[in-house]
Amino acid sequence: MEDGKQFDVIVIGGGPMGLSTAYHLSKRRTKTLVLEQFTFINQLGSSAGVSRQFRIPYPDEYMVKLVKQSIPFWDELQSLTPVPLMDEVGTLWFGDPDVHSTEGNIRQAELALKAQDVAYTSVNASELESQYHFKNLPSTYTGLFQAQGASIDLKATQQTLYHWNKESSLVTLKEEAPVTKIEHRHQQFEVTTPLGTFTAKKLVLVPGPYADAVFKLLNFQVAATYWNMASAFYKKTDPAIQYPTWFVFQNPVGDNGNQFYGFPEVSWNYPGYIRVASDFVMAPLNSPSQRTLVPNPQELAYTAEWVKNHMTGLDPIPQYTSTCMVALSKIPNKELLIDFAPAYVPAHKDIAIYATGWAGKFVPLLGKILADLTLDGHTPFDISHFATGYKYFTQWK
Ligand SMILES: Cc1cc2nc3c(=O)[nH]c(=O)nc-3n(C[C@H](O)[C@H](O)[C@H](O)COP(=O)(O)OP(=O)(O)OC[C@H]3O[C@@H](n4cnc5c(N)ncnc54)[C@H](O)[C@@H]3O)c2cc1C
Repeated sequence: MEDGKQFDVIVIGGGPMGLSTAYHLSKRRTKTLVLEQFTFINQLGSSAGVSRQFRIPYPDEYMVKLVKQSIPFWDELQSLTPVPLMDEVGTLWFGDPDVHSTEGNIRQAELALKAQDVAYTSVNASELESQYHFKNLPSTYTGLFQAQGASIDLKATQQTLYHWNKESSLVTLKEEAPVTKIEHRHQQFEVTTPLGTFTAKKLVLVPGPYADAVFKLLNFQVAATYWNMASAFYKKTDPAIQYPTWFVFQNPVGDNGNQFYGFPEVSWNYPGYIRVASDFVMAPLNSPSQRTLVPNPQELAYTAEWVKNHMTGLDPIPQYTSTCMVALSKIPNKELLIDFAPAYVPAHKDIAIYATGWAGKFVPLLGKILADLTLDGHTPFDISHFATGYKYFTQWK
């Protein structure tokens, strides 16, 4: 194999997870190639738009623990750039305490936070209105506020990782390089792209919502649905109002899933506006190829109605609409899938995978975990809950 084509590890997918994995691999002196089918920092995968929620509340203690464990890795990433990667405004979870949604349940989250010694304050319905600017909430609503919640600048996060990798003598970044074939020969993987064929002993697969197109090259697939989530920005009519990151738990009403979440105003993303989105899937896709860049009008309408009825200081007409595509595993609470390839794939323990779920908050930590799995075959972090490939990977038919 000619020089420039042989690597220790090839990372397939150049989103934040791929860039973070390359960063951690290179810190361990590993010659790494990252292959991206489009351009780096594109708008066509799960990292479209800019802001993501960083929140510690989760209904399961192991998730709370994992978010806590991600904090030092965020601090490390922040030390590489003067650009703030997060705006710490706190997380507000509120709504009907009896609702158990795909995001969890307020009471369970309180128990998990207590068990992990995470400080938070409980909030009642009148405080939700007087302190956090919501209105017309049922008096039975409760909430919790956790101060370390933040809005993540995912674009700046990717830029930081991209520039660090670009400077590294150990990392090669190639864009416009869709992987079209993977073969295992002579104890190596041969990975084919229009830019040529590259070889490595190990692979990391982080293809975001295009997971099956890559897994298919190794004859397996993941049980997932795809969601083209709609979001929009709302103009602040009262410049003094600042919301935390928030999520509201409510029962569905007809086809309105009735769960919404939002962000503070941030300097890096349409200043003067705040982003509010729905968190219920109205039109699941069977494959990313069905995706259009047009947001679902009904998801936008239900969100705008909620903004109008329950938020203050905003013009309830949605502006700057966009979509973002995510693969959600058929695991009920949409957890992450972090595993090796299934056993029927040749050299399966040499292929580490991250797929599905809401993982923006885990970008720096997951890169470390995937680098550990690749180089050591294990990681000190407890990922036993996410090693679910045995359930969700099946042979390609
Ligand atoms: C609307 C929306 C809101 C979200 N909100 C939150 C949130 O508030 N908090 C949170 O923690 N998480 C959130 N998430 C999840 C988070 O954004 C994702 O988990 C994260 O961005 C995934 O990064 P990734 O690198 O795995 O995937 P991606 O960014 O999709 O990157 C995968 C890359 O792989 C490339 N690729 C695919 N196939 C190939 C191939 N054959 N060859 C080469 N390259 C290939 C793709 O082009 C893509 O660039 C949200 C996601 C969405 C869509």
